[in-house]
Amino acid sequence: MSDTIEENEPKNQIKKKSDQSKLKARLRDLEFFTEVIPDGVVIINNQLVVEATNESAQSLLGLPEDSTGKSFEEFVKVARLNSYVRGDSQQEPLEFTSPVQKDSTLEARLFNVDKETKVVIVRDITTLNRLLTMRQSFVANVSHELRTPLTVVKGYLETMVDESAPEDLRLSLIKKLKAPVNRMESLVQDLLLLTQLESNPVPPEMDEIKMTELIENAYNEVQGLLGEEDSLVIQNSSDAQIKGISAELSSVCINLISNAIRYSPDGANIEVSWTNTEQGKARFAVQDHGLGIAKEHLDRITERFYRVDMKDSRARGGTGLGLAIVKHVLRRHNSELQVKSRVSEGSLFFCDFETV
Ligand code: ADP
Repeated sequence: MSDTIEENEPKNQIKKKSDQSKLKARLRDLEFFTEVIPDGVVIINNQLVVEATNESAQSLLGLPEDSTGKSFEEFVKVARLNSYVRGDSQQEPLEFTSPVQKDSTLEARLFNVDKETKVVIVRDITTLNRLLTMRQSFVANVSHELRTPLTVVKGYLETMVDESAPEDLRLSLIKKLKAPVNRMESLVQDLLLLTQLESNPVPPEMDEIKMTELIENAYNEVQGLLGEEDSLVIQNSSDAQIKGISAELSSVCINLISNAIRYSPDGANIEVSWTNTEQGKARFAVQDHGLGIAKEHLDRITERFYRVDMKDSRARGGTGLGLAIVKHVLRRHNSELQVKSRVSEGSLFFCDFETV
């Protein structure tokens, strides 16, 4: 009997050792996996004593590296999170303000591994929340923008089909339909263009663009907006060509020039130019002497539907998307929109391009 036991001992020890090294290898794997995932992972026991954390959890929750063996609550002073981790894993995820960065929002989810052990997964949802809010307000804005001209069209149509309404009134309304319908058309066109800009990658080979021609064409397009008293001067002192997408660059020129006209009082004085810069680039610039933009709005005017004066902008016929389109197009052309403006004195919008 004893002989057999003695004979078996070394085998048992060998098995135990190999089990232990397998376990260690698995733990190393696990540690590696938890380190490479961007979410924070905290393993705690029922008494909320920390058993393991990964680097993300340490930075998201402000846990020290040596928190293992210590109470979770000792380090994380977020009352809602602490009562959440005391609960069971069936709960909904918990959203809370980051204890490390007050302007960040974190989300925690709790899982029971077994009766003794729980895992808390934490992730930063600040960007996700921001995107959700942006999407909601975008849909609300588009609906609102469409509803206004639709309501006008509906009102006109009701009068037009009303046989008791005077004939000349009913006929006069046909002409009036044009403005709200055009408004809806521009909005849909701008929305489509924005979506295309966001979804289409920049082509690897861009065309060589003669900006002077593009500026002339833009001038012809905006002619209809110019009042009798308005003056628009084009000063092209550069013949530099650039690599780009013609239709997109056209929309930059048309949007900036039409804004200059729309945000200037009658008798507008506008200069459009294409010049060489001292840094070896070429500059497209539109200078107006109109309403100007107060400093606090300058950072936001390229946001979709952001307007300095909502009512005034609509009355001037904008979609609220022009500068958002300009910003996108310029980014695709390695350029950016720059603005200098003073209230009641006017605005200078310009952008620089690498030349070919
Ligand atoms: P909109 O269709 O309302 O003109 P944009 O995106 O083109 O939308 O411009 C955003 C806002 O920036 C405008 O509503 C207006 O308040 C302001 N803005 C743009 N260009 C000018 C300008 N040349 N002068 C004064 N304000 C301007």
